[in-house]
Amino acid sequence: MSKCMESECNSYVVKCYQCGKCSAGCQISPFMDYLPHQVVRFVQLGDIYVDKILQSKSIWYCAGCQTCFSRCPQQVNLPHLMDLLCERSSKLKKIHPEARKILAFHKSFLNGVNRFGRSFELGLVGEFKLRTFNLFQDLLLAPAMIFKGKICFLPAKIKNLALVKVLFKKS
Ligand code: SF4
Ligand code: SF4
Repeated sequence: MSKCMESECNSYVVKCYQCGKCSAGCQISPFMDYLPHQVVRFVQLGDIYVDKILQSKSIWYCAGCQTCFSRCPQQVNLPHLMDLLCERSSKLKKIHPEARKILAFHKSFLNGVNRFGRSFELGLVGEFKLRTFNLFQDLLLAPAMIFKGKICFLPAKIKNLALVKVLFKKS
């Protein structure tokens, strides 16, 4: 077991006996570089192997759908493990190049929630484009979305925004 992961997920990762049910049921696994059960195995094996996983696409591509968790005979909380690995990968700046857009999206979304207490699509799109320098992608879709009322120009704030800010500070 890796030292760095020990305190957070030791209790369930050690229970994995590599039956592969998680990988067999994962809809995203065809796009991953390591299958979900392999991610758990690398974490069991220790720090050198965890490093491989921190630089992988798998942890970022996981959709957190919980299918693996519900199928696992050992109640290994793989979606939680994936989240922890993403957090560590981001802190150590080991993110796979193909996953940088995913992190940019996460940050843009969370910044909006922090500011307004809910998602503000136009702000999300703007910040995401600035973070990824992908300014013109999907721009032609904008008129149709505006026409159908899918994009609001002004953000709507929730009433108890202070509470959301406290949650962000604590997390
Ligand atoms: S389903 Fe559970 S026990 Fe089986 S390989 Fe996946 S994590 Fe391990
Ligand atoms: S939570 Fe992640 S690893 Fe588990 S089945 Fe869903 S996408 Fe796959």
